[in-house]
Amino acid sequence: MTWEAVIGIETHVELRTHSKMFCGCPVGFGGEPNTRVCPTCLGLPGALPVPNEKAIEWTMRLGLALDCEIAEHSLFHRKNYFYADMPKNYQISQFDLPLCADGHLDVTTETGERRVGITRVHLEEDTGKSTHLGEGGRIGSSGGALIDFNRAGIPLMEAVTEPDIRTPEEARVYAQELRAIVLALGVSDARLEEGSMRFDANVSLRPAGVVELGVKVEVKNMNSMRSLQRALAHEIERQTEILDGGGAIAQETRHWDEEAGRTEAGRSKEESSDYRYFSEPDLVPLSVGDEEVGKLRAGLPELPAQTRARFEAAGVDATGARVLVTSGLGTLFDEAVAAGAAATEAAKWLTGEVTAYLNREDTDPAGLQIDGTALAELVSMVEAGDLSSTAAKHVLEGVLAGEGEPRRVAEARDLIQIRDEGALSEAVAAVVAAHPDEMARIAGGDGKLIGFLVGKVMQATGGKADPRRVSELIREAAAS
Ligand code: ADP
Ligand code: ZN
Ligand code: MG
Repeated sequence: MTWEAVIGIETHVELRTHSKMFCGCPVGFGGEPNTRVCPTCLGLPGALPVPNEKAIEWTMRLGLALDCEIAEHSLFHRKNYFYADMPKNYQISQFDLPLCADGHLDVTTETGERRVGITRVHLEEDTGKSTHLGEGGRIGSSGGALIDFNRAGIPLMEAVTEPDIRTPEEARVYAQELRAIVLALGVSDARLEEGSMRFDANVSLRPAGVVELGVKVEVKNMNSMRSLQRALAHEIERQTEILDGGGAIAQETRHWDEEAGRTEAGRSKEESSDYRYFSEPDLVPLSVGDEEVGKLRAGLPELPAQTRARFEAAGVDATGARVLVTSGLGTLFDEAVAAGAAATEAAKWLTGEVTAYLNREDTDPAGLQIDGTALAELVSMVEAGDLSSTAAKHVLEGVLAGEGEPRRVAEARDLIQIRDEGALSEAVAAVVAAHPDEMARIAGGDGKLIGFLVGKVMQATGGKADPRRVSELIREAAAS
C-alpha cells in the first residue's frame, strides 16, 4: 500500500509587546522567576483583564499578511482546564469567532509550489512555564516541579493551517516562511530555541488516492526547523509501519525527542468539548471597522515573497534570494547595495561566508559585527584588485571577529595585494631567474608549468600578488 501523508500545523507566536495581554506587566524572556507578575496574570480572585490593543492590532497584521478575512466581530472565550501553570484554571483564548480566518500562504519546495490554507489566526494568553526537576526534565521521572509565571499572560497568536501540507520538507518551508513574515512584521523575535515561536505538527496517513483523512497524531516539542522536518519524517515512518502491519493509529499527542530521534507518547488528546468553552464575561466583544482594517493593510511592510522578488529582479538567483530572506540577512544586503556593492557580489558573500559564519557560531544576524558599508568596502577592495579572493575571506573573518573595518583589517593582517608593477615585476623576475629549466620548458610550450611558478611567486609575496597578473608576467618573460 502507498500512503500519503497529510499534515496541518498549529503555530504559537509570543508577541513582543511592552506589556502582557490583559495586565500591565512587562513582556520579556528569562530573568528572575516570578518577578513580572501581578494579581491579573496570577489569576487571583477579583482581578479583571484589560485587553492589549497593540496585541490585537498585531494579530490582525499577521492575518492580513496571510490574506485572511478580518472578522467584523470577534470574541474572547474561556478555555477551561486545570493545570498548575495556569492558575485561573482557564485560558482566555478565542473559539468560534477568531480575529482572522480563511487565509493562505504559498510555499515553494523542490517538488513545486503548494498553497497552504490558513484556517484561522487568533489571539490568546500564554501560560506559565513549569520546570520538572530531575534528570531529563521529564514529568515521569521528576521529583517535583517549579513554576515561573513571568510568561503567563504574554500575548500569544496562534495560526492554524488546513491539512494541506504533504511532506516534511513542505512543513519546514511553511514554518520558515511564516517565521520570516512574523519577523518582517516586527511583532515577535520568533526564537524557536527560546520558545517565542512553537510548532505543533499534526500528521496522518491515508491510502494514496483516498480523500477521507486518517487518524492524526499531534507532535510537539520541536525547537528548530530541522527538528520539525525530522520529527515529521520519523512520525510518518512510524505510522507507515503500524498501518502496513495491519494496526491502527491511536489519536494522541507525541513528544519529539531530539536526541533519540523519535517521538514518544504523551497525553491522549482532549476533544474541544472537554474545554467547556464559554464567552469571557469580563471582556466585551471586539468590533473592527473597514477603515481600521484598511489602515492596517496600508501599513504592512514589504513581505518576504515581495522581498525575494525584488532581490531576484536585482540579479540575485532564486536560491540566494531565499537564503537572504529566511536567514534574516535581507536588510544587510539592502544596506550593502545602497553603499555601492553590486547585488550579486553582496549576495554571494552573505549567502556564502556570512551564512556559514552564522551557522558555525550558532548566532543570528543581529549579532553580526559587519554592516552594509563594511561589506560594500570589502566588495570594492576585491574589485579594485586590493584583495585576492582568498585574502578577502581572511579580511571578512577579521571584520566578523570585531577587528574593525575591512581596510583596517587588511592592513593590520598585511593582506593588501601588491599593485605596484615594479614590486611585482621584481618578485616575478627573482622566481624566473631561479627556475631556468622550467622557463625553457614553458617557452617550449609546456603551459602547465606556469601554475607552478605562479605558486612560487605567491609564496614569495606571502599571497599578496595578483595571480592573474603574475601569470601574465611569467608568460611575457618566457616569450622574450
Ligand atoms: P484538534 O481539535 O485536535 O486541535 P483541529 O481540527 O483543530 O484538531 O486541527 C488541528 C490541526 O490539525 C490543524 O492544523 C488541522 O489542519 C490539522 N488536522 C486536522 N485533521 C487532520 C488529519 N486527519 N491529519 C492531519 N492533520 C489534521
Ligand atoms: Zn500581570
Ligand atoms: Mg484545535
